Amino acid sequence: MQTDRCRIKKADKVKILSGKDSGKIGQVLNVNAKTQRVLIENINMVKRHTRPNAKNRQGGIVETEAPIHWSNVMVMCNKCMTPVRIMVKTLEDGKKVRVCRKCNEQIDN
Ligand SMILES: [Zn+2]
Repeated sequence: MQTDRCRIKKADKVKILSGKDSGKIGQVLNVNAKTQRVLIENINMVKRHTRPNAKNRQGGIVETEAPIHWSNVMVMCNKCMTPVRIMVKTLEDGKKVRVCRKCNEQIDN
């Protein structure tokens, strides 16, 4: 399984590495392990045409986030203030946490 490669979790702060939003930072709204894509707040906005419905009587065009492949984003380290490589460390009590490869700071709380 390749899912282990994904170190990205919901609510992570990530930096976008490619595409039209390259360089931007956003918060992960959702992770789809099957498609290996992540949905990030206000990143990769696409216009969608909608039909009129109860919520939106006029229909028309709405902007919404589209998921991007997780290889195109990197998790930000709060201490380094930069996108970093992450490794998984097992604590003494057996709990697994993600840590910054650079400063060893825990990414998970
Ligand atoms: Zn760090």
